[in-house]
Amino acid sequence: MANAQIIAIGSEMLTPEKVDTNSLFLTRELNNLGIAVAGKRVVGDTREEIAEAIQQCLARAEVVIVSGGLGPTEDDLTRDGAALALGRELRFHEEVLAGIAARLRKFNRTMTERNRRQAFILEGARVLANPNGTAPGQVIETGGKLLFLLPGPPRELEPMVREHCVPIWSGFFPPRVLRTFTFRIARMPESEVDERAAPIYTKFTNPETTILAAAGDITLQFRAVAETEDEASRLLAAVADPIRNELGPRIYSEDGSSLESTLARHLLARGQTMAVAESCTAGMLASRLAGVPGVSKVFLGGFVVYTNEMKVKLTGVDATLIEQHSAVSEEVALALAAETRDRTGADFAVSITGYAGPDGGTTKDPIGTAYVGIATPDRLFAERLSFPGDRERIRRFTTQWALDILRVEVLRFPALPACGDLQ
Ligand code: ATP
Ligand code: MG
Repeated sequence: MANAQIIAIGSEMLTPEKVDTNSLFLTRELNNLGIAVAGKRVVGDTREEIAEAIQQCLARAEVVIVSGGLGPTEDDLTRDGAALALGRELRFHEEVLAGIAARLRKFNRTMTERNRRQAFILEGARVLANPNGTAPGQVIETGGKLLFLLPGPPRELEPMVREHCVPIWSGFFPPRVLRTFTFRIARMPESEVDERAAPIYTKFTNPETTILAAAGDITLQFRAVAETEDEASRLLAAVADPIRNELGPRIYSEDGSSLESTLARHLLARGQTMAVAESCTAGMLASRLAGVPGVSKVFLGGFVVYTNEMKVKLTGVDATLIEQHSAVSEEVALALAAETRDRTGADFAVSITGYAGPDGGTTKDPIGTAYVGIATPDRLFAERLSFPGDRERIRRFTTQWALDILRVEVLRFPALPACGDLQ
């Protein structure tokens, strides 16, 4: 498989103010042709460092793409760096200068001596026209590899890539397809997912596997490169099937969709509805559900019951129950879920009560403890959870657990034939 390396030139991208985004665009375009980006780097405006980076990248990849530093100023040193790296001369091209002059005239700007710098082209390089700026791009074949020098401003680089680079890449490299496949898993630490999946995925270099971890939400992504779609699917299945067997129902989605939209789809497929009662998360669970388009078909609403008084007033939970057990308790979580199911008429109700910190908590239930209550058509139960981290993280974790506990519960009910779409 062909590999690419990307070099972003510019000292400004080594400050806290500016990031390299050209490489993201380039990666997308390369991946579309089945060319993987094996590495990228940011290099300051120094001739020697540019040269060194180009040499190192050429030693590692079939295609090296440099962006930036092709302007007319003293600190635009990409041309000189490339010449040094390849041991080639820079040649002045009269017709390139004429093109720059014509462009400047069109915009009533005068050409300066500095613009001459942009008419220097690497010996043996092909010039890539730049209709959106003065700096032309360059491509040179060296040792069976391709080196591209492209302008830094995205509005100049992007059209040049689409118009010139993509056809060159697809002609130079055999056609390949790059396909990805995703598993998402909730309520499992990254270490456990990896412990169970790694013995399988480490047997394969194609597809490549990456793990992304967020709070209680792990994404396993597989990327396969092949000559055909069928071959890519076969390669993906070879690693995905045994991992699916290993993790089973812990995988909540296989198409990248979020936990909340997966839950909504499961409810819709069963013609069922849900409602919430939230104390410490105060609407975060409801808000996540509301982020799913069309969710009103399955999510009825519920209560934000932050104080004890509101728990009693809005859901009808017995005040003495709260006095006896405290608001953060299994008993209150159960009562909240049961009463919410009754009051809303939903098939499923979820309640959340907990200590998100930084104040509160007891010896028995310290900060980070939450109870999730679940009321379903055939049972009522609660889980005690315990999370590390700050207030925001604890609240996020709690909603994640609540959604996934409910997802598993909903799956116990059979799906109905054709229930329509969320939207
Ligand atoms: P110019 O003729 O404008 O000087 P250039 O090819 O020399 O073009 P640079 O001077 O390196 O390009 O960058 C010009 C501007 O382009 C930067 O100020 C920045 O806004 C943008 N730019 C450069 N490199 C990148 C990058 N890797 N990602 C995103 N933007 C970039
Ligand atoms: Mg510049």
